[in-house]
Amino acid sequence: MDTALALHAYRVDERTRAFLAQRHDLLIDGRWAPPRLGGRIDVIDPATARRIATVAAATAADVDDAVVAARRAFTQGPWPAMSGAGRAKLLWALADRLAGDARVLAELETLDNGKPFADTLAIDIPVGAELLRYMGGWATKLKGESVQIGDPGDFQAYSLREPIGVVGQIIPWNFPLLMALLKIGPALAAGCTLLLKPAEQTPLTALRLGSLALEVGFPPGVINILTGDGETAGAAMTAHPDIDKIAFTGSTEVGRRILAAAAGNLKRVSLELGGKSPMIVMPDADVEAVIAGAVPGIFFNAGQSCMAGSRLIVHESLAARVTEGIAARARAIRVGPGFEPGTQVGPLVSQTQLERVQAYIRSGLDEGARLVTGAKRLPGDGYFLTPTVFADVHPGMRIVREEIFGPVLCISSFADLGLDQIASLANDTPYGLAASIWTRDLVTAHSLTAKLKSGQVWVNAHHAGGPDLPMGGYKQSGWGRELGREGVELYTEIKAVAIALKKPGAWLELKG
Ligand code: NAP
Ligand code: MG
Repeated sequence: MDTALALHAYRVDERTRAFLAQRHDLLIDGRWAPPRLGGRIDVIDPATARRIATVAAATAADVDDAVVAARRAFTQGPWPAMSGAGRAKLLWALADRLAGDARVLAELETLDNGKPFADTLAIDIPVGAELLRYMGGWATKLKGESVQIGDPGDFQAYSLREPIGVVGQIIPWNFPLLMALLKIGPALAAGCTLLLKPAEQTPLTALRLGSLALEVGFPPGVINILTGDGETAGAAMTAHPDIDKIAFTGSTEVGRRILAAAAGNLKRVSLELGGKSPMIVMPDADVEAVIAGAVPGIFFNAGQSCMAGSRLIVHESLAARVTEGIAARARAIRVGPGFEPGTQVGPLVSQTQLERVQAYIRSGLDEGARLVTGAKRLPGDGYFLTPTVFADVHPGMRIVREEIFGPVLCISSFADLGLDQIASLANDTPYGLAASIWTRDLVTAHSLTAKLKSGQVWVNAHHAGGPDLPMGGYKQSGWGRELGREGVELYTEIKAVAIALKKPGAWLELKG
Protein backbone atom coordinates (compact mmCIF):
# COMPACT_ATOMS: atom_id res chain seq x y z
CA MET A 1 0.00 0.00 0.00
CA ASP A 2 2.83 2.38 0.79
CA THR A 3 4.10 1.99 -2.77
CA ALA A 4 0.66 3.00 -4.01
CA LEU A 5 0.63 6.11 -1.82
CA ALA A 6 4.25 6.91 -2.67
CA LEU A 7 3.22 7.49 -6.28
CA HIS A 8 1.70 10.78 -5.15
CA ALA A 9 4.05 13.71 -4.66
CA TYR A 10 1.70 14.97 -1.96
CA ARG A 11 2.31 13.71 1.58
CA VAL A 12 -0.79 11.96 2.79
CA ASP A 13 -1.64 12.60 6.47
CA GLU A 14 -0.63 9.92 8.99
CA ARG A 15 -4.27 9.52 10.05
CA THR A 16 -5.25 8.79 6.44
CA ARG A 17 -2.48 6.20 6.15
CA ALA A 18 -3.60 4.59 9.39
CA PHE A 19 -7.20 4.49 8.21
CA LEU A 20 -6.26 2.89 4.89
CA ALA A 21 -4.17 0.26 6.63
CA GLN A 22 -6.85 -0.80 9.07
CA ARG A 23 -9.20 -3.68 8.49
CA HIS A 24 -12.54 -2.47 7.11
CA ASP A 25 -15.63 -4.35 8.20
CA LEU A 26 -19.36 -3.71 8.04
CA LEU A 27 -21.09 -1.33 10.42
CA ILE A 28 -24.04 -3.30 11.78
CA ASP A 29 -25.86 -2.54 15.02
CA GLY A 30 -23.24 -0.09 16.25
CA ARG A 31 -20.30 -2.49 15.80
CA TRP A 32 -17.85 -3.30 13.05
CA ALA A 33 -18.46 -6.88 12.01
CA PRO A 34 -16.68 -9.00 9.37
CA PRO A 35 -18.88 -10.09 6.46
CA ARG A 36 -20.42 -13.49 7.17
CA LEU A 37 -19.03 -15.04 3.99
CA GLY A 38 -15.67 -13.30 4.39
CA GLY A 39 -15.57 -11.66 0.94
CA ARG A 40 -13.31 -8.67 0.28
CA ILE A 41 -13.22 -6.02 -2.46
CA ASP A 42 -10.10 -4.17 -3.61
CA VAL A 43 -10.21 -0.38 -3.54
CA ILE A 44 -8.28 1.16 -6.42
CA ASP A 45 -6.75 4.63 -6.70
CA PRO A 46 -7.79 5.78 -10.20
CA ALA A 47 -4.77 8.08 -10.50
CA THR A 48 -2.35 5.17 -10.21
CA ALA A 49 -4.47 2.06 -10.83
CA ARG A 50 -2.97 0.65 -7.59
CA ARG A 51 -4.81 -0.97 -4.73
CA ILE A 52 -4.97 1.27 -1.67
CA ALA A 53 -7.21 -0.80 0.62
CA THR A 54 -9.62 -3.68 0.74
CA VAL A 55 -13.12 -3.55 2.18
CA ALA A 56 -15.72 -6.10 3.17
CA ALA A 57 -18.12 -7.54 0.60
CA ALA A 58 -21.53 -7.79 2.22
CA THR A 59 -23.96 -10.50 1.13
CA ALA A 60 -27.64 -11.15 1.80
CA ALA A 61 -26.88 -12.61 5.26
CA ASP A 62 -25.21 -9.35 6.34
CA VAL A 63 -28.13 -7.37 4.94
CA ASP A 64 -30.47 -9.54 7.04
CA ASP A 65 -28.43 -8.77 10.18
CA ALA A 66 -28.44 -5.06 9.44
CA VAL A 67 -32.18 -5.02 8.80
CA VAL A 68 -32.84 -6.71 12.14
CA ALA A 69 -30.68 -4.06 13.85
CA ALA A 70 -32.28 -1.18 11.97
CA ARG A 71 -35.79 -2.50 12.70
CA ARG A 72 -35.00 -2.83 16.38
CA ALA A 73 -33.54 0.67 16.43
CA PHE A 74 -36.65 1.99 14.70
CA THR A 75 -39.20 0.39 16.99
CA GLN A 76 -37.45 0.07 20.37
CA GLY A 77 -34.69 1.83 22.27
CA PRO A 78 -33.52 5.41 22.03
CA TRP A 79 -34.29 6.31 18.40
CA PRO A 80 -38.11 6.26 18.38
CA ALA A 81 -38.07 7.96 21.80
CA MET A 82 -35.75 10.72 20.69
CA SER A 83 -37.24 14.14 20.00
CA GLY A 84 -36.66 15.99 16.75
CA ALA A 85 -34.41 18.31 18.71
CA GLY A 86 -32.34 15.34 19.87
CA ARG A 87 -31.94 14.07 16.32
CA ALA A 88 -31.02 17.57 15.14
CA LYS A 89 -28.28 17.82 17.77
CA LEU A 90 -26.80 14.51 16.64
CA LEU A 91 -26.83 15.60 13.00
CA TRP A 92 -25.13 18.87 13.89
CA ALA A 93 -22.57 17.05 16.02
CA LEU A 94 -21.85 14.78 13.08
CA ALA A 95 -21.49 17.81 10.78
CA ASP A 96 -18.97 19.36 13.20
CA ARG A 97 -17.10 16.08 13.44
CA LEU A 98 -16.94 15.86 9.64
CA ALA A 99 -15.60 19.40 9.42
CA GLY A 100 -12.99 18.55 12.05
CA ASP A 101 -11.92 15.50 10.04
CA ALA A 102 -11.95 17.40 6.73
CA ARG A 103 -8.36 16.78 5.77
CA VAL A 104 -8.56 13.01 6.20
CA LEU A 105 -11.93 12.78 4.49
CA ALA A 106 -10.75 14.94 1.58
CA GLU A 107 -7.61 12.84 1.16
CA LEU A 108 -9.59 9.61 1.23
CA GLU A 109 -12.03 10.99 -1.31
CA THR A 110 -9.26 12.04 -3.67
CA LEU A 111 -7.49 8.70 -3.31
CA ASP A 112 -10.69 6.75 -3.82
CA ASN A 113 -12.47 8.72 -6.53
CA GLY A 114 -9.55 10.64 -8.08
CA LYS A 115 -11.09 14.11 -7.99
CA PRO A 116 -8.82 17.11 -7.25
CA PHE A 117 -7.87 17.47 -3.59
CA ALA A 118 -8.59 21.21 -3.84
CA ASP A 119 -12.20 20.29 -4.73
CA THR A 120 -12.66 17.60 -2.11
CA LEU A 121 -11.34 19.96 0.58
CA ALA A 122 -13.23 23.07 -0.61
CA ILE A 123 -16.43 21.50 -1.91
CA ASP A 124 -17.24 17.89 -1.06
CA ILE A 125 -16.49 17.99 2.67
CA PRO A 126 -17.75 21.47 3.68
CA VAL A 127 -20.80 21.29 1.42
CA GLY A 128 -21.54 17.87 2.88
CA ALA A 129 -21.28 19.18 6.45
CA GLU A 130 -23.57 22.11 5.59
CA LEU A 131 -26.06 19.71 4.06
CA LEU A 132 -26.22 17.73 7.30
CA ARG A 133 -26.73 20.92 9.31
CA TYR A 134 -29.54 21.99 7.01
CA MET A 135 -31.22 18.58 7.25
CA GLY A 136 -30.81 18.62 11.03
CA GLY A 137 -32.99 21.74 11.01
CA TRP A 138 -35.86 19.79 9.47
CA ALA A 139 -35.95 17.31 12.35
CA THR A 140 -37.85 19.89 14.42
CA LYS A 141 -39.99 21.25 11.61
CA LEU A 142 -41.82 18.29 10.13
CA LYS A 143 -45.51 18.57 10.77
CA GLY A 144 -48.93 17.66 9.52
CA GLU A 145 -51.96 19.90 9.13
CA SER A 146 -55.29 20.25 10.80
CA VAL A 147 -58.13 19.59 8.39
CA GLN A 148 -61.80 20.49 8.49
CA ILE A 149 -64.02 17.50 7.67
CA GLY A 150 -67.77 17.46 8.07
CA ASP A 151 -69.41 20.34 9.83
CA PRO A 152 -67.66 22.25 12.61
CA GLY A 153 -67.91 20.26 15.82
CA ASP A 154 -68.34 16.90 14.04
CA PHE A 155 -64.68 15.92 13.97
CA GLN A 156 -61.24 16.97 14.93
CA ALA A 157 -59.15 15.88 11.96
CA TYR A 158 -55.48 16.23 11.22
CA SER A 159 -52.58 14.65 9.39
CA LEU A 160 -49.40 13.35 10.99
CA ARG A 161 -46.10 13.06 9.21
CA GLU A 162 -44.30 9.93 10.39
CA PRO A 163 -40.96 8.36 9.45
CA ILE A 164 -41.34 5.60 6.84
CA GLY A 165 -39.26 3.12 8.83
CA VAL A 166 -36.20 1.16 7.78
CA VAL A 167 -34.62 2.58 4.65
CA GLY A 168 -32.10 1.07 2.22
CA GLN A 169 -29.90 3.64 0.48
CA ILE A 170 -27.76 2.83 -2.55
CA ILE A 171 -25.36 5.41 -3.95
CA PRO A 172 -22.90 5.85 -6.83
CA TRP A 173 -19.22 6.76 -6.98
CA ASN A 174 -19.20 10.25 -8.46
CA PHE A 175 -19.56 12.23 -5.20
CA PRO A 176 -19.13 9.44 -2.66
CA LEU A 177 -19.35 11.36 0.63
CA LEU A 178 -21.80 14.00 -0.61
CA MET A 179 -24.11 11.29 -1.94
CA ALA A 180 -23.92 9.47 1.39
CA LEU A 181 -24.81 12.63 3.32
CA LEU A 182 -27.54 13.53 0.85
CA LYS A 183 -29.09 10.19 1.68
CA ILE A 184 -28.54 9.79 5.42
CA GLY A 185 -29.25 13.45 6.38
CA PRO A 186 -32.93 13.61 5.45
CA ALA A 187 -33.65 10.00 6.46
CA LEU A 188 -32.27 10.58 9.97
CA ALA A 189 -33.96 13.98 10.27
CA ALA A 190 -37.28 12.31 9.48
CA GLY A 191 -36.65 9.62 12.13
CA CYS A 192 -35.89 6.64 9.90
CA THR A 193 -33.12 4.11 10.48
CA LEU A 194 -31.03 3.01 7.56
CA LEU A 195 -28.69 0.74 5.67
CA LEU A 196 -26.30 2.59 3.36
CA LYS A 197 -24.48 0.83 0.52
CA PRO A 198 -21.75 2.93 -1.09
CA ALA A 199 -20.56 2.14 -4.62
CA GLU A 200 -18.04 -0.67 -4.67
CA GLN A 201 -15.53 1.64 -6.40
CA THR A 202 -15.62 4.30 -3.65
CA PRO A 203 -16.44 2.92 -0.19
CA LEU A 204 -13.82 4.69 1.95
CA THR A 205 -15.45 7.95 3.06
CA ALA A 206 -18.72 6.16 3.87
CA LEU A 207 -16.76 3.88 6.22
CA ARG A 208 -15.04 6.86 7.82
CA LEU A 209 -18.46 8.51 8.16
CA GLY A 210 -19.68 5.40 10.00
CA SER A 211 -16.86 5.73 12.55
CA LEU A 212 -17.58 9.42 13.08
CA ALA A 213 -21.29 8.69 13.56
CA LEU A 214 -20.45 6.16 16.28
CA GLU A 215 -18.14 8.69 17.94
CA VAL A 216 -20.82 11.37 18.17
CA GLY A 217 -23.27 8.89 19.68
CA PHE A 218 -25.78 7.68 17.10
CA PRO A 219 -27.48 4.73 18.80
CA PRO A 220 -26.71 1.19 17.54
CA GLY A 221 -28.66 0.12 14.46
CA VAL A 222 -29.65 3.63 13.36
CA ILE A 223 -26.89 3.89 10.75
CA ASN A 224 -25.67 0.64 9.20
CA ILE A 225 -23.04 0.75 6.48
CA LEU A 226 -22.58 -2.17 4.15
CA THR A 227 -19.86 -2.13 1.56
CA GLY A 228 -20.35 -4.61 -1.22
CA ASP A 229 -21.37 -4.93 -4.81
CA GLY A 230 -24.68 -3.96 -6.26
CA GLU A 231 -25.77 -7.29 -7.61
CA THR A 232 -25.31 -8.93 -4.20
CA ALA A 233 -25.66 -6.46 -1.32
CA GLY A 234 -27.68 -3.90 -3.29
CA ALA A 235 -30.06 -6.47 -4.74
CA ALA A 236 -30.55 -8.07 -1.30
CA MET A 237 -31.57 -4.68 0.07
CA THR A 238 -34.01 -3.89 -2.72
CA ALA A 239 -35.72 -7.27 -2.43
CA HIS A 240 -35.78 -7.36 1.39
CA PRO A 241 -39.32 -7.76 2.78
CA ASP A 242 -38.56 -5.80 5.94
CA ILE A 243 -37.08 -2.72 4.28
CA ASP A 244 -39.77 -0.05 3.90
CA LYS A 245 -38.11 2.18 1.34
CA ILE A 246 -35.22 2.23 -1.11
CA ALA A 247 -33.54 5.48 -2.04
CA PHE A 248 -31.26 5.07 -5.04
CA THR A 249 -28.91 7.24 -7.07
CA GLY A 250 -27.28 5.78 -10.14
CA SER A 251 -28.03 4.67 -13.66
CA THR A 252 -31.51 4.51 -15.16
CA GLU A 253 -30.90 0.88 -16.06
CA VAL A 254 -30.25 -0.17 -12.46
CA GLY A 255 -33.09 2.10 -11.35
CA ARG A 256 -35.47 -0.04 -13.39
CA ARG A 257 -34.12 -3.21 -11.81
CA ILE A 258 -34.58 -1.73 -8.37
CA LEU A 259 -38.16 -0.87 -9.13
CA ALA A 260 -38.88 -4.45 -10.16
CA ALA A 261 -37.20 -5.87 -7.05
CA ALA A 262 -39.09 -3.45 -4.79
CA ALA A 263 -42.43 -4.72 -6.06
CA GLY A 264 -42.39 -7.69 -3.64
CA ASN A 265 -43.46 -5.70 -0.59
CA LEU A 266 -44.33 -2.55 -2.57
CA LYS A 267 -41.65 -0.65 -0.71
CA ARG A 268 -41.43 3.06 -1.33
CA VAL A 269 -38.87 3.95 -3.98
CA SER A 270 -37.15 7.21 -4.79
CA LEU A 271 -34.79 7.34 -7.75
CA GLU A 272 -32.18 9.86 -8.78
CA LEU A 273 -31.07 8.64 -12.19
CA GLY A 274 -29.14 9.72 -15.24
CA GLY A 275 -29.34 12.81 -17.38
CA LYS A 276 -28.45 14.25 -20.75
CA SER A 277 -28.84 17.86 -19.81
CA PRO A 278 -29.01 20.56 -22.47
CA MET A 279 -27.34 23.96 -22.31
CA ILE A 280 -29.43 26.13 -24.65
CA VAL A 281 -27.67 29.17 -26.06
CA MET A 282 -30.03 31.79 -27.48
CA PRO A 283 -28.86 34.27 -30.13
CA ASP A 284 -28.79 37.16 -27.62
CA ALA A 285 -26.61 35.28 -25.08
CA ASP A 286 -23.46 36.78 -23.59
CA VAL A 287 -20.89 34.62 -25.37
CA GLU A 288 -18.15 35.04 -22.77
CA ALA A 289 -20.57 34.03 -20.00
CA VAL A 290 -21.65 30.98 -22.01
CA ILE A 291 -18.06 29.83 -22.48
CA ALA A 292 -17.16 30.46 -18.85
CA GLY A 293 -20.26 28.59 -17.64
CA ALA A 294 -20.41 25.75 -20.12
CA VAL A 295 -16.86 24.54 -19.49
CA PRO A 296 -17.43 23.65 -15.81
CA GLY A 297 -21.02 22.80 -16.80
CA ILE A 298 -19.71 19.74 -18.63
CA PHE A 299 -16.17 19.15 -17.35
CA PHE A 300 -16.61 19.58 -13.59
CA ASN A 301 -15.82 16.26 -11.90
CA ALA A 302 -14.56 14.95 -15.27
CA GLY A 303 -18.12 15.05 -16.54
CA GLN A 304 -19.11 12.39 -14.01
CA SER A 305 -22.13 14.28 -12.82
CA CYS A 306 -25.75 13.37 -13.39
CA MET A 307 -26.51 17.01 -14.20
CA ALA A 308 -23.54 17.58 -16.52
CA GLY A 309 -24.43 19.84 -19.43
CA SER A 310 -23.57 17.24 -22.02
CA ARG A 311 -25.56 18.69 -24.96
CA LEU A 312 -24.90 22.26 -25.99
CA ILE A 313 -27.56 23.55 -28.38
CA VAL A 314 -26.50 26.90 -29.77
CA HIS A 315 -28.01 29.35 -32.22
CA GLU A 316 -26.09 29.13 -35.50
CA SER A 317 -25.03 32.79 -35.33
CA LEU A 318 -22.92 32.02 -32.22
CA ALA A 319 -22.00 28.41 -32.93
CA ALA A 320 -18.46 29.00 -34.24
CA ARG A 321 -17.45 31.46 -31.49
CA VAL A 322 -18.93 29.36 -28.70
CA THR A 323 -17.38 26.14 -30.02
CA GLU A 324 -13.94 27.68 -30.44
CA GLY A 325 -14.11 29.43 -27.07
CA ILE A 326 -15.09 26.24 -25.23
CA ALA A 327 -12.49 24.20 -27.10
CA ALA A 328 -9.74 26.69 -26.21
CA ARG A 329 -10.63 26.52 -22.53
CA ALA A 330 -11.00 22.75 -22.66
CA ARG A 331 -7.46 22.43 -24.06
CA ALA A 332 -6.17 24.59 -21.20
CA ILE A 333 -7.76 22.46 -18.46
CA ARG A 334 -5.11 20.79 -16.33
CA VAL A 335 -5.87 17.10 -16.20
CA GLY A 336 -3.82 15.16 -13.69
CA PRO A 337 -3.60 13.42 -10.34
CA GLY A 338 -5.86 14.95 -7.74
CA PHE A 339 -2.97 15.71 -5.39
CA GLU A 340 -0.93 17.64 -7.97
CA PRO A 341 -1.26 21.38 -7.32
CA GLY A 342 -3.18 23.08 -10.12
CA THR A 343 -5.06 19.96 -11.24
CA GLN A 344 -8.55 20.92 -12.37
CA VAL A 345 -9.81 17.57 -13.62
CA GLY A 346 -8.75 14.21 -12.21
CA PRO A 347 -8.96 10.72 -13.71
CA LEU A 348 -12.16 8.87 -14.45
CA VAL A 349 -13.19 6.68 -11.55
CA SER A 350 -12.27 3.27 -12.95
CA GLN A 351 -10.89 1.33 -15.86
CA THR A 352 -14.45 0.30 -16.70
CA GLN A 353 -15.64 3.89 -16.82
CA LEU A 354 -12.64 4.94 -18.92
CA GLU A 355 -13.35 2.18 -21.43
CA ARG A 356 -17.04 3.08 -21.49
CA VAL A 357 -16.29 6.72 -22.29
CA GLN A 358 -13.68 5.78 -24.91
CA ALA A 359 -16.22 3.50 -26.58
CA TYR A 360 -18.64 6.44 -26.78
CA ILE A 361 -15.93 8.61 -28.31
CA ARG A 362 -15.28 5.93 -30.95
CA SER A 363 -18.99 5.71 -31.70
CA GLY A 364 -19.14 9.50 -32.13
CA LEU A 365 -16.31 9.34 -34.65
CA ASP A 366 -17.92 6.38 -36.44
CA GLU A 367 -21.24 8.19 -36.67
CA GLY A 368 -19.62 11.26 -38.22
CA ALA A 369 -19.43 13.78 -35.37
CA ARG A 370 -16.59 16.31 -35.71
CA LEU A 371 -13.98 15.97 -32.98
CA VAL A 372 -12.87 19.50 -32.07
CA THR A 373 -10.55 18.64 -29.21
CA GLY A 374 -9.69 16.04 -26.57
CA ALA A 375 -10.27 12.28 -26.60
CA LYS A 376 -6.68 11.55 -25.57
CA ARG A 377 -5.73 9.21 -22.78
CA LEU A 378 -2.75 10.50 -20.80
CA PRO A 379 0.28 8.21 -20.63
CA GLY A 380 0.69 6.12 -17.49
CA ASP A 381 -1.52 3.78 -15.53
CA GLY A 382 -4.15 6.27 -14.30
CA TYR A 383 -7.52 6.64 -15.99
CA PHE A 384 -6.96 10.13 -17.38
CA LEU A 385 -8.83 11.41 -20.42
CA THR A 386 -8.60 14.91 -21.88
CA PRO A 387 -11.75 17.07 -22.07
CA THR A 388 -13.48 16.25 -25.32
CA VAL A 389 -15.66 18.40 -27.56
CA PHE A 390 -17.68 17.12 -30.50
CA ALA A 391 -19.41 19.52 -32.90
CA ASP A 392 -21.90 18.97 -35.74
CA VAL A 393 -23.67 16.23 -33.85
CA HIS A 394 -27.11 14.98 -34.85
CA PRO A 395 -30.01 13.92 -32.63
CA GLY A 396 -29.79 10.25 -33.66
CA MET A 397 -26.15 9.73 -32.62
CA ARG A 398 -25.47 7.56 -29.57
CA ILE A 399 -23.25 10.25 -28.03
CA VAL A 400 -26.24 12.58 -28.15
CA ARG A 401 -28.87 10.11 -26.94
CA GLU A 402 -27.09 8.18 -24.20
CA GLU A 403 -25.58 9.35 -20.94
CA ILE A 404 -21.79 9.13 -21.28
CA PHE A 405 -20.91 10.19 -17.74
CA GLY A 406 -17.51 11.47 -18.80
CA PRO A 407 -15.81 14.62 -20.09
CA VAL A 408 -17.55 14.71 -23.47
CA LEU A 409 -19.54 17.67 -24.78
CA CYS A 410 -21.79 17.41 -27.86
CA ILE A 411 -22.50 20.67 -29.69
CA SER A 412 -25.29 21.15 -32.21
CA SER A 413 -26.74 24.34 -33.66
CA PHE A 414 -30.18 25.57 -34.65
CA ALA A 415 -31.38 28.16 -37.14
CA ASP A 416 -34.09 30.72 -36.37
CA LEU A 417 -36.75 28.70 -34.59
CA GLY A 418 -39.63 29.50 -32.26
CA LEU A 419 -39.36 28.72 -28.56
CA ASP A 420 -41.60 25.65 -28.94
CA GLN A 421 -39.22 24.17 -31.49
CA ILE A 422 -36.16 25.03 -29.42
CA ALA A 423 -37.80 23.40 -26.40
CA SER A 424 -38.51 20.31 -28.52
CA LEU A 425 -34.82 20.03 -29.38
CA ALA A 426 -33.89 20.32 -25.71
CA ASN A 427 -36.62 17.88 -24.62
CA ASP A 428 -35.69 15.30 -27.27
CA THR A 429 -34.23 12.85 -24.75
CA PRO A 430 -35.61 10.20 -22.41
CA TYR A 431 -34.02 12.13 -19.55
CA GLY A 432 -35.20 15.30 -17.78
CA LEU A 433 -32.84 16.14 -14.94
CA ALA A 434 -31.45 19.60 -15.63
CA ALA A 435 -31.20 22.29 -18.30
CA SER A 436 -29.64 25.69 -18.63
CA ILE A 437 -30.78 28.61 -20.77
CA TRP A 438 -28.36 31.32 -21.82
CA THR A 439 -30.09 34.56 -22.79
CA ARG A 440 -30.28 38.23 -21.81
CA ASP A 441 -34.01 38.37 -22.41
CA LEU A 442 -36.25 37.89 -19.38
CA VAL A 443 -39.30 36.89 -21.41
CA THR A 444 -37.31 34.25 -23.31
CA ALA A 445 -35.90 32.93 -20.03
CA HIS A 446 -39.29 32.51 -18.36
CA SER A 447 -41.13 31.30 -21.47
CA LEU A 448 -38.54 28.68 -22.34
CA THR A 449 -38.27 27.55 -18.70
CA ALA A 450 -41.98 26.75 -18.73
CA LYS A 451 -41.58 24.57 -21.83
CA LEU A 452 -38.67 22.43 -20.61
CA LYS A 453 -39.33 19.00 -19.18
CA SER A 454 -36.62 19.19 -16.59
CA GLY A 455 -36.39 18.96 -12.81
CA GLN A 456 -33.98 21.89 -12.70
CA VAL A 457 -33.66 24.89 -14.96
CA TRP A 458 -30.85 27.41 -14.63
CA VAL A 459 -30.63 30.68 -16.46
CA ASN A 460 -27.16 32.00 -17.29
CA ALA A 461 -25.63 29.35 -15.05
CA HIS A 462 -25.18 25.58 -14.97
CA HIS A 463 -24.85 23.61 -11.70
CA ALA A 464 -26.38 26.11 -9.29
CA GLY A 465 -28.00 24.82 -6.13
CA GLY A 466 -27.97 24.48 -2.39
CA PRO A 467 -29.44 22.26 0.30
CA ASP A 468 -32.83 23.97 0.11
CA LEU A 469 -33.36 23.73 -3.66
CA PRO A 470 -35.21 20.51 -4.58
CA MET A 471 -33.31 18.27 -6.98
CA GLY A 472 -34.61 15.44 -9.12
CA GLY A 473 -35.80 14.41 -12.51
CA TYR A 474 -38.68 14.44 -14.93
CA LYS A 475 -39.18 11.43 -17.21
CA GLN A 476 -36.52 8.71 -16.95
CA SER A 477 -34.30 10.82 -14.71
CA GLY A 478 -36.10 9.62 -11.64
CA TRP A 479 -38.86 9.65 -9.07
CA GLY A 480 -39.10 12.15 -6.26
CA ARG A 481 -37.06 15.16 -5.23
CA GLU A 482 -34.10 15.26 -2.89
CA LEU A 483 -32.98 18.34 -0.93
CA GLY A 484 -35.28 21.00 0.46
CA ARG A 485 -38.46 20.18 2.36
CA GLU A 486 -39.36 17.71 -0.40
CA GLY A 487 -36.15 15.80 0.33
CA VAL A 488 -37.10 15.16 3.96
CA GLU A 489 -40.72 14.43 3.15
CA LEU A 490 -39.45 11.67 0.87
CA TYR A 491 -38.75 9.74 4.09
CA THR A 492 -42.18 10.22 5.64
CA GLU A 493 -45.65 8.73 5.46
CA ILE A 494 -48.81 10.73 6.06
CA LYS A 495 -51.27 9.42 8.58
CA ALA A 496 -54.76 10.95 8.47
CA VAL A 497 -56.56 11.07 11.83
CA ALA A 498 -60.21 11.92 12.46
CA ILE A 499 -61.65 12.02 15.98
CA ALA A 500 -65.41 12.02 16.28
CA LEU A 501 -66.61 14.77 18.58
CA LYS A 502 -70.16 13.47 18.48
CA LYS A 503 -71.47 9.95 18.96
CA PRO A 504 -71.21 8.12 15.61
CA GLY A 505 -74.94 7.55 15.51
CA ALA A 506 -75.62 11.19 16.10
CA TRP A 507 -73.26 12.07 13.27
CA LEU A 508 -74.93 9.60 10.89
CA GLU A 509 -78.33 10.97 11.83
CA LEU A 510 -77.04 14.43 11.26
CA LYS A 511 -75.84 13.45 7.78
CA GLY A 512 -78.82 11.24 7.05
P1 NAP B 1 -24.95 1.88 -11.21
O1 NAP B 1 -24.56 0.58 -11.76
O2 NAP B 1 -26.32 2.38 -11.40
O3 NAP B 1 -24.58 1.85 -9.66
C1 NAP B 1 -25.11 2.73 -8.68
C2 NAP B 1 -25.26 1.96 -7.38
O4 NAP B 1 -26.21 0.90 -7.55
C3 NAP B 1 -23.98 1.30 -6.92
O5 NAP B 1 -23.91 1.32 -5.51
C4 NAP B 1 -24.18 -0.10 -7.44
O6 NAP B 1 -23.41 -1.06 -6.83
C5 NAP B 1 -25.63 -0.34 -7.18
N1 NAP B 1 -26.22 -1.43 -7.95
C6 NAP B 1 -25.79 -1.94 -9.12
N2 NAP B 1 -26.61 -2.95 -9.51
C7 NAP B 1 -27.57 -3.08 -8.55
C8 NAP B 1 -28.68 -3.94 -8.37
N3 NAP B 1 -29.02 -4.88 -9.27
N4 NAP B 1 -29.45 -3.79 -7.27
C9 NAP B 1 -29.16 -2.84 -6.37
N5 NAP B 1 -28.11 -2.01 -6.48
C10 NAP B 1 -27.32 -2.11 -7.56
O7 NAP B 1 -23.98 2.96 -11.73
P2 NAP B 1 -22.45 2.72 -12.05
O8 NAP B 1 -22.14 1.35 -12.54
O9 NAP B 1 -21.71 3.11 -10.85
O10 NAP B 1 -22.29 3.73 -13.24
C11 NAP B 1 -22.90 3.41 -14.49
C12 NAP B 1 -23.67 4.58 -15.02
O11 NAP B 1 -24.64 5.06 -14.07
C13 NAP B 1 -22.83 5.82 -15.24
O12 NAP B 1 -22.06 5.75 -16.37
C14 NAP B 1 -23.91 6.85 -15.32
O13 NAP B 1 -24.56 6.82 -16.55
C15 NAP B 1 -24.85 6.43 -14.25
N6 NAP B 1 -24.63 7.16 -13.00
C16 NAP B 1 -25.50 8.14 -12.66
C17 NAP B 1 -25.31 8.84 -11.49
C18 NAP B 1 -26.23 9.91 -11.03
O14 NAP B 1 -25.87 10.67 -10.14
N7 NAP B 1 -27.43 10.01 -11.54
C19 NAP B 1 -24.21 8.56 -10.68
C20 NAP B 1 -23.33 7.54 -11.06
C21 NAP B 1 -23.58 6.84 -12.21
P3 NAP B 1 -21.93 -1.38 -7.37
O15 NAP B 1 -21.13 -0.89 -6.25
O16 NAP B 1 -21.88 -2.83 -7.57
O17 NAP B 1 -21.71 -0.66 -8.64
MG1 MG C 1 -21.39 -0.47 -10.79
